[in-house]
Amino acid sequence: MDQDPRPIMIAPPDSVGQAFSRATSLKCPMCGKGKLFSGLLLMEKSCDQCGFRFERDPGYFLGSTYINYGLTTLLTTWTYIVLHFVLEVGRGWLIPGLATFCVIFPVVFFRYARSLWLSFDCYFDRTGALEQRSESGNEQDPKSSKEN
Ligand SMILES: [Zn+2]
Repeated sequence: MDQDPRPIMIAPPDSVGQAFSRATSLKCPMCGKGKLFSGLLLMEKSCDQCGFRFERDPGYFLGSTYINYGLTTLLTTWTYIVLHFVLEVGRGWLIPGLATFCVIFPVVFFRYARSLWLSFDCYFDRTGALEQRSESGNEQDPKSSKEN
């Protein structure tokens, strides 16, 4: 009884909250059901529930590195300022600790950065996401090749 009998709604996220929710749960931005990752760092090519192709263009996920790099930089800078200037923690502990953070955090956050990039891209480019959906739908539909 774990199968939901209702049909899957396939549409880009309606709100920022829905885009954020689907992204942080690492689910497909179009249906909110399919998983984005099959392993720790291995991303699925398309949604197993609605067929939406995740990598919309070659190099599509390069943009997710901006999210990852930006958040790493922001957290490192904010932590340094608070710990060093407010709490007066010495640099002898702070610099190696933050350097370690700068190496580990981007790896841990990798999946969420990609998911956020994909989900918010679908939210802001609804038309492009729906066109992508129909293109990937036609690839899987054997009837479309018989029509001509
Ligand atoms: Zn999906």
